[in-house]
Amino acid sequence: MTLTTIDLGGEAGKILAGLGVPAAVWQEGTLSVRSPVSGEKIGSVQEVGPDEAATAIEATHKAFLEWRLVPAPRRGELVRLLGEELRAAKDDLGRLVSIEAGKIVSEGLGEVQEMIDICDFAVGLSRQLYGLTIATERADHRMMETWHPLGVTGIISAFNFPVAVWSWNAALALVCGNSIVWKPSEKTPLTAIASQAIFEKALKRYIEAGNTAPANLSTLLIGGAPVGEALVDHPKVPLVSATGSTRMGRAVGPKLAARFARAILELGGNNAAIVTPTANLDLTLRGVAFAAMGTAGQRCTSLRRLFVHETVYDTLVPRLKKAYASVPVGSPLEAGTLVGPLIDEAAFNGMQKALAAAKQAGGTVTGGERLLAEEATSAFYVRPAIVEMPEQTGPVVEETFAPILYVIKYSDFDTALALNNAVPQGLSSSIFTNDMREAEAFVSARGSDCGIANVNIGPSGAEIGGAFGGEKETGGGRESGSDAWKGYMRRATNTVNYGSTLPLAQGVKFDIA
Ligand code: NAD
Repeated sequence: MTLTTIDLGGEAGKILAGLGVPAAVWQEGTLSVRSPVSGEKIGSVQEVGPDEAATAIEATHKAFLEWRLVPAPRRGELVRLLGEELRAAKDDLGRLVSIEAGKIVSEGLGEVQEMIDICDFAVGLSRQLYGLTIATERADHRMMETWHPLGVTGIISAFNFPVAVWSWNAALALVCGNSIVWKPSEKTPLTAIASQAIFEKALKRYIEAGNTAPANLSTLLIGGAPVGEALVDHPKVPLVSATGSTRMGRAVGPKLAARFARAILELGGNNAAIVTPTANLDLTLRGVAFAAMGTAGQRCTSLRRLFVHETVYDTLVPRLKKAYASVPVGSPLEAGTLVGPLIDEAAFNGMQKALAAAKQAGGTVTGGERLLAEEATSAFYVRPAIVEMPEQTGPVVEETFAPILYVIKYSDFDTALALNNAVPQGLSSSIFTNDMREAEAFVSARGSDCGIANVNIGPSGAEIGGAFGGEKETGGGRESGSDAWKGYMRRATNTVNYGSTLPLAQGVKFDIA
């Protein structure tokens, strides 16, 4: 295991400069940016204060008033160009994601590919924002629903998907006729600045091609929770899509509800998989290992709980432990690495606390120790941990944002299903089985209660075509594909009378002469 010795700050700077970002933007500011790859500082960016944020939101609201008048397919053209610019910048932006968020190279690139995919999806959508025509009970009337732009869409994003989350929201919001304000994670502002620069390039081409677009259509607000709060509290933001921990969701949700603003909350996940007696164990091993260890367990859909049938437990679990012992942990920038660093020391401490609590609750821990501490004293690499638990208790029922897989033996399918459903943070789930009845039961009304329920693939790696998210506490998946666009628009029901009378309620008469 080695750690790369490349100049991370220098490389990040080169990527930003290549996208046309002035050096002052990432070199002069109050907020230090650190790379989890080495723990070193790679930039300083300027945070905005709540007053500045409010002024910027006002300006973005003005942009909405104009943008909503542009025909939707023309709005789609801007998003098509954004997709083209993202294709051109894919290697650079993917690399910056790896440097700033610590994702391995293929995942950094995969994240940018998701941005491209949602742009393609949204371009098609820009010609499909249609409502129903509804049978009316009145003669000579027609009733229909129309979908209209909603207003400024606020986007709050988490560090672990530093750019894709923005694009899931931005691409849909823009074709729907909304302007956008983005408050990225304070841990990953450089990738946000880069994404905004890529958007500006698309916008420039759009305008050069003879289209009109208002100033401040997309606004970036750098800062921590107080800036997010300013966005959540602003009366001219009718929708906030916030992605992050359930702790954040609990702060944001009630505030939006208090002013009747709309919330899309994509929060934490304590995701499970069930391995049944008929499972293909080779396939299961791959699915489980990737879902539990990938992105060092820092995906909202990471596999955290594994229920293994007693007849396959002694075959599967030792093989899994072997995979855990041999998985390459190291610099995410080096080919062959599967597990990169934790985002910071707080994440490492959270992991060690959970492992200690699991031991206390009767668990047997394999792995979990810190690695590469001498090579990089301020970076936090760990061997992913497997914890065999006697029952689902203690830290097993919490989301710890680190690579810990709790394994529990079961003997009866219904018990395993009940355990899958027994935590509030049910975001994603899987079953590994070749028994059709178990597979169908798992995805049925009496099956998994999570927003994502998969058969014979792990819980992580959602596609943009489906409605992503799905934390069950907040009501299921609503970002990106499917009909998620409806969350970004307002529905009006229109009734048109093409007759020459207006029937009143029976027996009602008044003089209209
Ligand atoms: P976090 O909750 O600490 O922060 C997320 C964002 O919310 C940041 O931009 C932060 O500044 C902002 N924020 C925090 N408190 C706020 C407040 N009171 N008001 C307004 N904004 C506030 O999460 P994180 O550590 O960056 O990300 C990891 C978490 O995100 C995990 O729980 C993970 O499961 C979740 N996540 C969920 C999804 C999903 O789609 N369901 C996707 C990615 C990450």
